[in-house]
Amino acid sequence: MAIIISVKAACKSLILQSLIILGCIFVINAYPVITQTPSASLMWLPHGLLTASALLAMQFGHSRLCIASILLLISLMLPWIPIEWLISQVVQDSMPSLLMVTMITLLWDRDRGLMLSGVAISIAVVALSLGLFVVASLLLNQYTSVLITFLPAAMQNLNLTPMPILPLLMTIMILFTGVVRLFIQPSNRHSALLFTALMLISISLYFNRQFPLLVYSIIAIAFFVMILLDGYNMAFKDELTGIDGRRALMQFVSTLGKKYAVVMGDVDKFKNFNDKYGHDVGDQVLKMVATCMNNVGGGGRAFRYGGEEFTLVFPNKTAKQALIYVEEVRAAIESRGFQIRKPGRAKGKPEQRSGKTKETMTNVFVTSSFGIAERNEANNEFTKVMKASDNALYKAKSAGRNCTVINK
Ligand code: GH3
Ligand code: MG
Ligand code: MG
Repeated sequence: MAIIISVKAACKSLILQSLIILGCIFVINAYPVITQTPSASLMWLPHGLLTASALLAMQFGHSRLCIASILLLISLMLPWIPIEWLISQVVQDSMPSLLMVTMITLLWDRDRGLMLSGVAISIAVVALSLGLFVVASLLLNQYTSVLITFLPAAMQNLNLTPMPILPLLMTIMILFTGVVRLFIQPSNRHSALLFTALMLISISLYFNRQFPLLVYSIIAIAFFVMILLDGYNMAFKDELTGIDGRRALMQFVSTLGKKYAVVMGDVDKFKNFNDKYGHDVGDQVLKMVATCMNNVGGGGRAFRYGGEEFTLVFPNKTAKQALIYVEEVRAAIESRGFQIRKPGRAKGKPEQRSGKTKETMTNVFVTSSFGIAERNEANNEFTKVMKASDNALYKAKSAGRNCTVINK
């Protein structure tokens, strides 16, 4: 279950990244003048966008995207640094690879805040992995002719320039770890860093450093979109369950017409559940309940109102029409058990027992109650309809819980 959610979230953010690239490619195709423009007049674009994304990331406390934007900005400026001995040609040529390793390292790191100590640790981590990468690359270059004989014949004949086959394989492996990280912990920031690593490596492999300004601009746009999207999620999504939160509900209300039904749902005896199984298990159950709520049919929209209370809104439906869909949700929550670990004695003869306890799985269940009300003459404002559905919920609790009551 958790794996499916994780894969879905990772795919969603990857699809979004791909849409950004396709959008940019579409614009570039539609306006070829962008690529024909002398690079000097295009210069301001990636610089401006990267500076803006660094500032935006700083504002949102996304230290990794901030560091990534600043490093990309510095790498763009390197060719203009007059002291040539400081940045040798070799370093400049390997810049896309070095930046790729930096992005993947930041991907595996965490946001450490923008205090000096946090930034210093992040930079130290990046420096360490760059050091390892450089040593590995030098070793690979030294022993390429020996190691290449171990590769299958078909791969030996691959003549990919400018990157020799073994460093190319190492690059693919590093990028693969980035994909693994994204699927372990999907987030927009992670997919932005992975996508940047892919774009950077594509510069050195295919673009032959002809379009870095455009590629850097696309990367900056992707950072921008992802930071704004994270900001949107922070404002409108509930952090624990990932479904829409109360602010999203209030925004949705303004889009409702004159006919709609509002449902208040509440998990039964949840305090007892928390006391018995612990707050963490309670949190997991709330996620499960939120998923059931979010799967509601009939055009209903689910929101976490707060605590263990959820709101469903059915545009263009009466309370009676919404009832069947609410009952489906109630039945789904009731029947969908939640597996928890329960410590128990290990099975076997007494002499075979190690004395340790063995964890066994057990199913726990929760139920929920619902109250429905619709907009009518008496309840002609959302707050009044909501109050009426809350009264109906109260009646459902009094009627013995695990049921749905329509406000009369
Ligand atoms: P009733 O059937 O009357 O609704 O009983 P109840 O115990 O569910 O109601 P009550 O309002 O007394 O308790 C609500 C409980 O929900 C108390 C609180 O510990 C728990 N709760 C609220 N928010 C969260 C949360 O985010 N996570 C967890 N684990 N528990 C929460
Ligand atoms: Mg409650
Ligand atoms: Mg409750």
